[in-house]
Amino acid sequence: KPIRDRQRLPVVPQGIERDDFLAALEDLKAKMGHEFVEINDKALKDGWYMEHPNTHDMMTILDEEELVASAVVYPSTTEEVQQIVLWANKHRIPIFPISMGRNLGYGGAAPRVRGSVTLDLGKRMNKILDINPEDYTCLVEPGVSFYALHEVLKEKGYDHMWVDTPDLGGGSILGNTLDRGVGYTPYGDHWACHSGLEVVLPTGEIIRTGMGALPGNNTWQAFPYGFGPYSDGLFSQSNFGIVTKMGMTLMPNPGGYESFMYTFQKEEDLGPLMEIIRPLRIGMILENVAQVRHVAQGIAAQGLPRSKFYQGSGSIPDEVLHTAAAESPAGDHTWAYYGMSYGPSHIRAYKLAIVDAEFLKIPGAKKVDPSTLPADDYYFSRDRIAAGIPDIHELRWVNWTPNGAHIAFSPVSPIRSADAMKLFGLGKKLHQQYGIDFFPAFIVGLREMHLIVEIVFDRDDTERKQAAMDCLRDMIDQAAALGYGEYRTHLVLMDQVASTYSWGDGALMKFNERLKDALDPNGILAPGKSGIWPKRYRGRGWEM
Ligand code: ADP
Repeated sequence: KPIRDRQRLPVVPQGIERDDFLAALEDLKAKMGHEFVEINDKALKDGWYMEHPNTHDMMTILDEEELVASAVVYPSTTEEVQQIVLWANKHRIPIFPISMGRNLGYGGAAPRVRGSVTLDLGKRMNKILDINPEDYTCLVEPGVSFYALHEVLKEKGYDHMWVDTPDLGGGSILGNTLDRGVGYTPYGDHWACHSGLEVVLPTGEIIRTGMGALPGNNTWQAFPYGFGPYSDGLFSQSNFGIVTKMGMTLMPNPGGYESFMYTFQKEEDLGPLMEIIRPLRIGMILENVAQVRHVAQGIAAQGLPRSKFYQGSGSIPDEVLHTAAAESPAGDHTWAYYGMSYGPSHIRAYKLAIVDAEFLKIPGAKKVDPSTLPADDYYFSRDRIAAGIPDIHELRWVNWTPNGAHIAFSPVSPIRSADAMKLFGLGKKLHQQYGIDFFPAFIVGLREMHLIVEIVFDRDDTERKQAAMDCLRDMIDQAAALGYGEYRTHLVLMDQVASTYSWGDGALMKFNERLKDALDPNGILAPGKSGIWPKRYRGRGWEM
C-alpha cells in the first residue's frame, strides 16, 4: 500500500496525539538545543552512499514513506543519550538509534516503527577515544568509520596495526559490529574482535560491560568478559540498549601480504571446492574470510548496466553471462575465489603452495595472474579490503539497474558441498521463478559460511520490488524448511526471520520478549528490531 502523505508532516508515531507529539518535540529541542533536533518535514532525498539520508532507507524495498523517521536528534555525549531516553519514556515515543545509518541492504537508516525519532549518534559522537599501540586496541564512539580509523592510524604512523574493514568502508565500526557485520582479514568477525561496551539502557541507566565495570581498570579493551554473565551479546542485533562506546582489537601488521584469485569453470565445481576449502580454512592455511563469488557478480562489479549485456526480461541467461565473462580480463568461469595470504614471503610461499595444489585438483581451475588485470579490476578492491584498506568499489554493481538498490538474503551453513549446492539450487530456482538476476557469493568464515545473495532492483519499479520481496520471503521460508537461517536481515524481514528461529515453541523469542519487557517497560527503544516487540505493541498487527 503506497503511503504518500507529505501534507501533514512530520509523521506522528501511532498512539500519540499530534499536538502532544509536537509539544514533546519542543521539549526535546529545549533539552538538546534547537539546531540538534531536525523535524523531518521536507521531501525525502535518497542521496548516495557517501551522502546518505538519515530519515529513511535510501534503498527501500517498500514505499519510502513506510519506514520513515518523524525527526532526527543529534546527541553529543552519553549523558545526552540518557536524557533522550528519559524524554522518550516520559512521552512514550519510539526512538531508533543509528550510528551512521549506512546499513544498506539491511534497512539503511530507517526505523522499524514509522514516525520514530531517530538518534543519529554518529554525527557528533565521532571520536576515537583511545588507541593503544602496545595492546593493539582502540575505543571508539558510534561515528567513527572504518575510513576514519584507518586514516588516523596512518597519520599517527602506527603502521604496526591494521583495521579490519567490510566490503564498504564508509560505515560505522560500532554500528557494523553491533549488526554482526564481517570484514576480510583474519579479524573479519567484528563481533568476536570487539572488547567492552558502554550502553545506555532503555530506562536511562548507563552500564559498562566486561572489565569496564571495574573502576580504574586498564583491561577493558584487552579482556572482553570481565566477571559474571557475559552481557555484551544482549546488545548486538537487539533493542535492549544504545551503545555509546565500544572497544575494538586491531590486527598486527603481518609483515607482508599477497592476494590470490582462482577461477573455476562449472557451476557444479562449487561442491568439490567447498570440500577443499573447509579443512584449509579451519586449519588457517586459508587465513582470511574468503569469498567464492559467482561470475554474475564479477560482471556486475564492473559497474556496467545490465542492458549492456541483455535486454530481455526474466533472469539473465547463463550463456549471456559466460559470453560476457569470456571477454572479461579473468576469462570465462562460473566461480571466482578471492583470498589473501599473510606474512613474510617465505611463510606465504609455504601456504600458497598448499592452496595451489589443492585448488588445481578441480579440473579447469586456473590461478589468475594479477598483472594481466586492469588497475580498476574488482580484484584490486578485494586486495585492498583484505589488507585492511577501506574501499567502496563494491557499490558498482548497484549500477546494474536504473535507480539501483539492493537487499540481501544471507543464510548460514557449514562449509560443505551438500549445503552449498542446496542453498545455491534454492536461490537459483526462486530467482528464475521471479525473473530476477541471481548474484550469489559464499563468504567463508571459519567453520561456517554465509551465502550472501544481493537482489539488485530499480527503486522506482513497484512490480520488480514486489517480485524481490516475494522471492526473499520464499527463500527465507524454504531455506528454513531445510534447516538454514539468516545471520542478519533487512528491517522489513526481521519478523519473518525471527519466526524461523522457533525451536521449543518459540522459546528463544519468549526469552527475548521477557528481557525486553524487563529492560524496556515502556517499549520505547527500537520496537520490532530483530522481531522483538515490546508488550505494548505485541498482538496488535505490527509484524510484517
Ligand atoms: P553502519 O553505518 O555501520 O552501517 P548503522 O548505523 O546503520 O551502521 O547501524 C547498523 C544497525 O545497528 C542498525 O540497525 C542500528 O539499529 C543498530 N545500531 C547502530 N548503532 C547503534 C547503537 N549505538 N546502539 C544500538 N544499536 C545501534
